[in-house]
Amino acid sequence: MVQEGDDGATGAMQAWPLTVNKFIEHAARWHGSRTVVSRAFDGSINRMSWADIHRHAAHLSNALVAYGIGQGDRVATLAMNSGRHVAAWYGIMGMGAICHTLNPRLSVEQLVYIINHAADRIVFVDRQFMPLIEQLQPQCPSLQTAIILDEDGQGCWDAFVDGQSDSFDWGAFDENSGAGLCYTSGTTGNPKGVLYTHRSNYLHTMMALQPDALGIGVREVIMPVVPMFHANGWSIPFAASAAGCKMVMPGAHLDGQSLHDLIEKESVTLVAGVPTVWFGLLEYVRKNGKEFTSLKRLFVGGAACAESLIRDFADYGVDVVHTWGMTELSPIGTVGRLTPEVLDLADDEQLGYRMAQGRPLLGIDMRVADENGQELSRDGATIGAIQVRGQAIVGRYFRAEEIALNDDGFFDTGDVGTIDARGYMRITDRAKDVIKSGGEWISSVDLENAAMSHPGVQLAAAVGIAHPKWNERPLLLVKRKAGNDVTEEDIHDVLARKLARLAIPDAILFTDDIPLGATGKIDKKRIRADYKDFYVERG
Ligand code: AMP
Repeated sequence: MVQEGDDGATGAMQAWPLTVNKFIEHAARWHGSRTVVSRAFDGSINRMSWADIHRHAAHLSNALVAYGIGQGDRVATLAMNSGRHVAAWYGIMGMGAICHTLNPRLSVEQLVYIINHAADRIVFVDRQFMPLIEQLQPQCPSLQTAIILDEDGQGCWDAFVDGQSDSFDWGAFDENSGAGLCYTSGTTGNPKGVLYTHRSNYLHTMMALQPDALGIGVREVIMPVVPMFHANGWSIPFAASAAGCKMVMPGAHLDGQSLHDLIEKESVTLVAGVPTVWFGLLEYVRKNGKEFTSLKRLFVGGAACAESLIRDFADYGVDVVHTWGMTELSPIGTVGRLTPEVLDLADDEQLGYRMAQGRPLLGIDMRVADENGQELSRDGATIGAIQVRGQAIVGRYFRAEEIALNDDGFFDTGDVGTIDARGYMRITDRAKDVIKSGGEWISSVDLENAAMSHPGVQLAAAVGIAHPKWNERPLLLVKRKAGNDVTEEDIHDVLARKLARLAIPDAILFTDDIPLGATGKIDKKRIRADYKDFYVERG
């Protein structure tokens, strides 16, 4: 830090804390007129400029202080993606409170646990979630007030910020202060909170902007389909404001037609979201003979990307880029961009790299390790625990007594996989989803990918089910594409071509109802519960 009396040999650079208000200040000052377009619940379109969002955020910071919110207090949001939601993020974080994004798709029981654990004091909410708030409030004593985000009148944003000033002195705290709080999907045990700091969000945003990461520049038009409550919104609201680019917020309607309509009308160039929404989009485009006239790139993550997604979007001129991450990583860990060596390979070989989860970004160190924490070979074949360390990776869960790291300072992601000689990481499974059959391990991800390579398959889910002889055997659920009559035998043939005999499921069941969890991923816990006696009963 430059201080009076410095001799000039030390501390010659300014101390400019890495706080996230810098993003919105930059966007308002240098890209003030570019827009954030939001689709409301009723389908109407709202346009705000980055300067508008800055002004709304300042109003909110002032109103929160007037209300009595202090630094470090938790203020929640329960809302889909919109410009107002972005203003709420910046207004809450900028004055030093912690923005806790709640996922409306969780059960009431889970939300009650999370809100009480975080001790949220206020919640900013989309009108359509008010009935949910009414259910939650009696069970959440800390929650004093709910403010509707995007409307005028009593109990709404405009009334809450009425008369507040357009300016606020943001970021008057240490860069290591908490900024955002996001709970993990909690597939086992209670959900755990990850408290992002200003510094970690700032550095993660710098990382996400890079050409080999999300590559967001001012000429892009980005549409985050991934909700802001899922894993820090993949940091896209931060990155878009840091780049000052146009951003399109799809709100609550994430079906193929709604998404395609927005992409075309707003000339969207980049989109990001989980595989299930992209299957919906593809199906709509295919059935209705539509095209993409502006879309260049589609980021897919949160669950493994099927080969068919990459091939089918390529037919429409859209490049699918696979990413891997998790709430605990802020969330991006790897991105599947192709290196020059891979680009030199034939198309079929390239496809194997496109399907990999990708290579680590600057700021992330990654290794594959055995159960004793010994690093394993990066040979693309040796499977182990994927472990990471870096500046935007959880060290300790919110209010946890223990740190979340092993003795070497690595965080064990709970994913298992390989890293190859070119640095590409491939997830073979979630540790708890690996199917353990007669002493061998079967990758549920490989099984699903193989099934989904059949053109008649919309979605496939593989789980391990208790088996009297083999300990566990795979069970495969398949959802057919509309109008397709793919048979068990057809699927069996594809699997037999791609997988070891042992991995071929004893049963393949067709269903239109593969359950999805709160972040759009296959809910394997529920499938395992629903089918737990399947093989025992079959004998
Ligand atoms: P969440 O914190 O809800 O984003 O969940 C993170 C988990 O989702 C990871 O630990 C992985 O198990 C899974 N996941 C995320 N991205 C991918 C991907 N590209 N391929 C396979 N699994 C993924």
